[in-house]
Amino acid sequence: MSALPKSPRWNLNLSEELCFWCNTPTGNMILNGLLPNDEKAPEKQYRDYTPCKKCEGIMVTGITIIQCTSVANNFKQLQDGLYPTGLWTTVPESWIKSMFKPEAADKIIEGKAVNITVELWSRLGLPNLINSGVTETMMGYTQTNFV
Ligand SMILES: [Zn+2]
Repeated sequence: MSALPKSPRWNLNLSEELCFWCNTPTGNMILNGLLPNDEKAPEKQYRDYTPCKKCEGIMVTGITIIQCTSVANNFKQLQDGLYPTGLWTTVPESWIKSMFKPEAADKIIEGKAVNITVELWSRLGLPNLINSGVTETMMGYTQTNFV
């Protein structure tokens, strides 16, 4: 076992781990131990941006577009100054090629994922339905997921 300091009140202070991308339990628990002011850990929380098997299975089918904002929110930065909003979609390479200039498209396809601003998301005509819990196929996307 690790040297994780236990909470005098909450002992291991466990949280159920959620997948950030689909907001569903991964089946893993997070050991929080002693938190500042001996706070009780939230019942459920994200650990990091590792996708669960289901989300990974969707992401490997194409290129994942991740909506980000430059305004700090409750989520950790994905890259400098960009915070995910929770909205993402996986599209086929052909869609990327149809929407971006060749040099940009090649770079995005090579990276397998791209973080884009809310403004660009909207300009690309991607659906802006946050927190709807909807999973659907539309406009030729392989899959669209709303956290
Ligand atoms: Zn997931």
